[in-house]
Amino acid sequence: MQAIKFADLLAQGAVRGKRVFIRADLNVPLTPEGTVADDTRIRASVPAIRLALEGGAAGVMVTSHLGRPKEGQPQPQDTLAPVAARLGELLGQPVRLVPNWVEGGFTLAPGEVVVLENCRLNVGEKKNDPTLAQKMAKLADVFVHDAFGTAHRAEASTYGVFEYAPVACAGPLLVQEVEAIEKVVAHPPRPLIAIVAGSKVSTKLTILKNLAEKVDTLIVGGGILNTFLLAAGKPIGKSLAEPDLVEEAKAVRATLAARGGDVPLPEDVVVAPEFKPDAPATIKSIDEVSADEMILDVGPAFAERIAGLIERCQGAVVWNGPVGVFEFDAFAKGTERLARAIATCPGFTLAGGGDTIAAIEKFGIADQLDYISTGGGAFLEMLEGKVLPAIEILARRAQS
Ligand code: ADP
Ligand code: MG
Repeated sequence: MQAIKFADLLAQGAVRGKRVFIRADLNVPLTPEGTVADDTRIRASVPAIRLALEGGAAGVMVTSHLGRPKEGQPQPQDTLAPVAARLGELLGQPVRLVPNWVEGGFTLAPGEVVVLENCRLNVGEKKNDPTLAQKMAKLADVFVHDAFGTAHRAEASTYGVFEYAPVACAGPLLVQEVEAIEKVVAHPPRPLIAIVAGSKVSTKLTILKNLAEKVDTLIVGGGILNTFLLAAGKPIGKSLAEPDLVEEAKAVRATLAARGGDVPLPEDVVVAPEFKPDAPATIKSIDEVSADEMILDVGPAFAERIAGLIERCQGAVVWNGPVGVFEFDAFAKGTERLARAIATCPGFTLAGGGDTIAAIEKFGIADQLDYISTGGGAFLEMLEGKVLPAIEILARRAQS
């Protein structure tokens, strides 16, 4: 990695007395009551903050996005308040939440850690507006990019601010993640099995195009699978899918087939009339899904077949995205079966993604994986062979 590392600045004493701004990835899943459902990403962000405090920073401000709010239109579910509270518990010191922070004007006591409210509420964040980025760049002396989970997005807080920052460096989590994933990208063990599933259909399907050039077997699940089923002419009822991307799904299958690889499609699925925890779950053959049903999980026969592939894989398995609505027990069995197979896989196992981590925690297999990344999309884009925007800007700043 060509970037200036925060650890090196600390070693040089270059952080002492400086105001430190950290772009972390604190985008955690929340419970329906609005509490933190899984704090993995918050825990992963603690080392950078601790290092800043130990390095004598004049104060630390941490920001992150949470969910997908509308810029300039804060809603109750958009606040980082529960995240700040959990971060305070982990740090053992109170962490204040600062709203409306872009123009500055807030206090920051020596040794204090504040969380700057959801950065995706700032108008211009998504479009990487230079005016917004320049304002942010005035807030501190040292800017640390530690948000691996959003390192694949060029937004004002993940890219622009690092263009204008007086000092721009890579945080310890970003460095660790990039180095771990680079190892698999540089020399992929074979066979390489990728599981790409979940609900972010459009973003993930575009990634699959390049991934299809690299993996030997691509296992799809969730809304992505449903789109592949649509492409294969199967009935999917009212399942989550992206009909506009049917051609892309066909192209991905063709690419893999041309390389002697495969996208196995399920023989059975679990369907329900509604998206609800207590909706009745029915196992159906793949040709029998009716118009008023939705596919909420892969079926047991398919799960068993794929689990067998994974349990025999001597190469590597990379996993992003639950293959079913694992939050509801009736639709968690497919994800659980694959998770258990990954846990016993003899090859190298690498998993990442917000909800994927929640599934890993739910099934208690974290210790059995070789590497767990906090990033979903970022992790997939690295596997695709892309240079992440975060890495590009930090490398550029290391030169200037
Ligand atoms: P990650 O955060 O790990 O990258 P995503 O955010 O893309 O994963 O997707 C996770 C979500 O996908 C979960 O909340 C899960 O309930 C949902 N999901 C999985 N399968 C389906 C399905 N068949 N229909 C609707 N939602 C699904
Ligand atoms: Mg998610």
